[in-house]
Amino acid sequence: MDSGLKRELEAKVYAGERLTRADGIALYESDDLAWLGRLAHHKRTEMNGERVMFNVNRHLNLTNVCSASCAYCSFQRKPGEKDAYTMRIDEAVRKAKEMEDEQLTELHIVNGLHPSLPWRYYPKVLRELKGALPNVKLKCFTATEVQWFEKISGRSAGEILDELMDAGLESLTGGGAEIFDWEVRQHIVDHNCHWEDWSRIHRLAHERGMKTPATMLYGHIEEPRHRVDHVMRLRELQDETGGFVVFIPLRYQHDFVDSQDGKIRNRIQARTTMAAPAESLKTFAVSRLMFDNVPHVKCFWVMHGLSVAQLSLNFGADDLDGSVVEYKITHDADSYGTPNTMHRDDLLHLIWDAGFQPVERNTRYEVVREYESAPSLAERRSEPQRVWA
Ligand code: SF4
Repeated sequence: MDSGLKRELEAKVYAGERLTRADGIALYESDDLAWLGRLAHHKRTEMNGERVMFNVNRHLNLTNVCSASCAYCSFQRKPGEKDAYTMRIDEAVRKAKEMEDEQLTELHIVNGLHPSLPWRYYPKVLRELKGALPNVKLKCFTATEVQWFEKISGRSAGEILDELMDAGLESLTGGGAEIFDWEVRQHIVDHNCHWEDWSRIHRLAHERGMKTPATMLYGHIEEPRHRVDHVMRLRELQDETGGFVVFIPLRYQHDFVDSQDGKIRNRIQARTTMAAPAESLKTFAVSRLMFDNVPHVKCFWVMHGLSVAQLSLNFGADDLDGSVVEYKITHDADSYGTPNTMHRDDLLHLIWDAGFQPVERNTRYEVVREYESAPSLAERRSEPQRVWA
C-alpha cells in the first residue's frame, strides 16, 4: 500500500469516518500488520476501553445427525453411522446438569439438521433445560436450524421464535453465516439457508428484542473481498435493526483422519490451508475497523489457540467467549494445540497477562462482574503454575 493511501485511511479512522468496501479491501492488501493493529486497537479502545469480556458457558450439541453435507463440516454424521448420536430430552438435561458448576451463565446449543426429529422436540428440550437450570441463559440454534424448523413444522420463523422464546430461548447463535457471497457459498454450504433467509431470521429475532451474534467463517477458499462483502451486508442490516451485539470471525479448521473409520469428512481440505496467525490478526483488525456499529468483536479462543487469542486483543477483539469445557465442532476437526478446557481463572489470567481488564458478561453482554486489577506476581507465583499450549 502506498504511503498516501495509508495516510488517507489512517485519517479516516482517527476522524471516526465510516470505511468503504474499497477501504476494507485496501486494508486486507496491506502487509503492515503492526500498523493495522495500531488502527484497530485505536478503534477498539474508543469503543471498549481496556476491557476484555468473557462468559462462563458450556456447549451442548443435541445431535450430530444432519441432512446436509457442508463441504467444510467435520461434525455431521449420517443416520446409522456408528458415532452418530441424538440425545433424548432427559439425557440432554442430565448432561447440562453435570455442567452446572462455576456459576454457569449460558448454555450454547447448536445441532445438525436431523431428518426425523419432530419439531416438538426442540421447544420441549428448551423448556426442560430451563426448568432444570433456571439461572442459565439458553443461546440456541443457528438461523439455518430455524429455517429447518420451518420446513419440518410448517410454521413461520416468527411463530417458531415465539414458541422457542416462550420455552426459554434467550438468543439465537450466530452460525450458518459462513461466507454469504454466492461465488464462495455455493462451494462450501449444502443447506438452503443463504443470506436472504439468514438475514430474515435474525431480523425477526431483533424485532423480538433479542441481541444476536453474527459470524464469518474465514481462511478457506474465500478471498479478502468476500470477507469485506460479508461484513458490509451485516453492517447494513445492523444499521436497520441494531440487534447484533458481537461479530465473530471463525477460523476454518482442517479435519483429521478419524481413527475409528479412517474418513476425512471435510471436502475442501485439499484445496485450502488454514489461516496463519497473521491472517487471523488481520481479519480481526479489518473487521473491527469496518464495523463501526457492532459493539464487540470476539476471538473464540478454541479456534485460534491461546497465543493468537491474546494477541487478537491488540488487533480489535474485546471478547474471548467463555470457559468452554467441551466444544465438539472444532474438536471434531483438529484442535491444533488448543486445549478444550478453560475455567474462569484461566481466562482471567490470560486477559491480565495480555494487559487488559477482565469483565465477566452474560449472554446479552451485560456486566456480571468487573475484575479491576491483576493479583501481584508474588500472589500468582504462589499458585500452582499454569501451562498453556
Ligand atoms: S455445517 Fe451444520 S448444516 Fe452443514 S453439514 Fe455441518 S451440521 Fe449440517
